[in-house]
Amino acid sequence: MNREIRQNLKNVRQNIPSQVKLIAVSKTKPVEMIQQAYDEGQRDFGENKAQEMAAKQPMLPDDICWHFIGHLQTNKVKYIASFVFLIHAVDTLKLLKEIDKQAFKNSRIIDCLLEFHIAEEESKFGLSRKAAGEILNSGAFSELKNVRICGVMGMATYTSDQEKIRREFRSLKEHFESLKKEFFRDKPEFREISMGMSGDYLLAIEEGATIVRIGSTIFGPRQ
Ligand SMILES: *Cc1c(COP(=O)(O)O)cnc(C)c1O
Repeated sequence: MNREIRQNLKNVRQNIPSQVKLIAVSKTKPVEMIQQAYDEGQRDFGENKAQEMAAKQPMLPDDICWHFIGHLQTNKVKYIASFVFLIHAVDTLKLLKEIDKQAFKNSRIIDCLLEFHIAEEESKFGLSRKAAGEILNSGAFSELKNVRICGVMGMATYTSDQEKIRREFRSLKEHFESLKKEFFRDKPEFREISMGMSGDYLLAIEEGATIVRIGSTIFGPRQ
């Protein structure tokens, strides 16, 4: 029915090397559109509201990998803990502890990325390198058995200044390398760099993204 989603997905895939994972960001979009992308072979979808993701999940095929890409409040973790595939934007120890608790309740381990504040301006969320080090060095972190840190995530400034975006992506890659060296040397699962959206994913791939999160270019503009 929707030729556009098919064509958009095809176009986006042509720009993405096979080792980079494409997440189709379906926030605000109806399950019918997600099903259409699924029918084109897409399996990874991204949402940024816990209740919205929890409502869509049972209406769609079981083999979808659901990525939570937005800011997650601790009191919402319970809605998604039984099925979420990867939580992209963890930026406090408190949230990590709650994810661990809910993962334990569901007898599973939940994969997470640490969100870094890379935009040179205007961003409310995300860790500094120092704050991430403090979490990873803490006794409380070492007690968490049901979360697994698989890499980093960041959002560049919304700007047309390509060099600025590039610098910001580069800083995320540097945080990744530095954390890998200090904390995850013997952890092969620590390998993901989630960066790049519709407007800047080509730059993100050039700067080392392993995951890109693309919404409007696939599903059309949001309200
Ligand atoms: C909405 C969103 C995206 C996708 O944005 P588009 O510009 O529509 O591609 C990617 N990442 C996060 C964290 C988002 O909230």
